[in-house]
Amino acid sequence: MRFRVDNGRRQLLIGLLSGGVVGFLFSTETSRAWVRSRRRVNRHRRIIMIDPGHGGQDPGAIGVAGTREKFVALDTALAIAAQLESSGRYRVLMTRYSDEYITLKDRVVLAQTGRADLFVSVHADANHDPHIHGASVYTLSERASDKEAAALAARENSSDRIAGIDLSEHEPIVNEILYDLTRRETNNLSLRFAQALVAELGRDIALMDNTHRSAGFVVLKAPDIPSALVELGCLSNAREERKLGQAGYQMRLADSVARSIDNYFLYG
Ligand SMILES: [Zn+2]
Repeated sequence: MRFRVDNGRRQLLIGLLSGGVVGFLFSTETSRAWVRSRRRVNRHRRIIMIDPGHGGQDPGAIGVAGTREKFVALDTALAIAAQLESSGRYRVLMTRYSDEYITLKDRVVLAQTGRADLFVSVHADANHDPHIHGASVYTLSERASDKEAAALAARENSSDRIAGIDLSEHEPIVNEILYDLTRRETNNLSLRFAQALVAELGRDIALMDNTHRSAGFVVLKAPDIPSALVELGCLSNAREERKLGQAGYQMRLADSVARSIDNYFLYG
């Protein structure tokens, strides 16, 4: 297997994050109070929830040389988090900090409990065609933009079948009109962020054709938090699989994502 889990680097990145973020993992009253107090102190700092896809019993896509998506997602997400924290402009939370299984529904709940201003889900795809490569960006829509986006959403959503949960059956019970208005505003902001992501990723790395697409991703369903999902590349392409496992390439991806978040908040 070509991809090696680099625990030393992962620990270093965790250490670089502001000390308290790990406390968020414990859903006790104490940690909720802590999150609230941090919010008061850092009101000017936006809260970003970074969501490394898959984990634990769900490896995600598996590359031609055996690279597992769950590790590429976690390592790149940690690099993104470190980059954002070092700017001093953001408070960063993550849905997972280690190789653990978290349902898609719980990821959305974590973003809502953490009162995130933005949700970024980090993945790496595998395609049936080994020549296809490049990053792509997805936002939520009930009707998929194309067949490939629908198939991708089905693959990504299958994570919750492991726990037998289907979020689509559990829409929040709120005033319908208010819900629609919030949803529409969130969709517009999500689209704006997705455009910023495509622009910044495109400066530095290969993008898939028709790179911004939409489908019914369960993990993007928080009605009040602008959300996008990035597929960093294709593990089914041998060259890209190699790159996705390299720390240098993960840092480049992290720089692009961090720049897009800056652009979204500063110039949006
Ligand atoms: Zn995935």
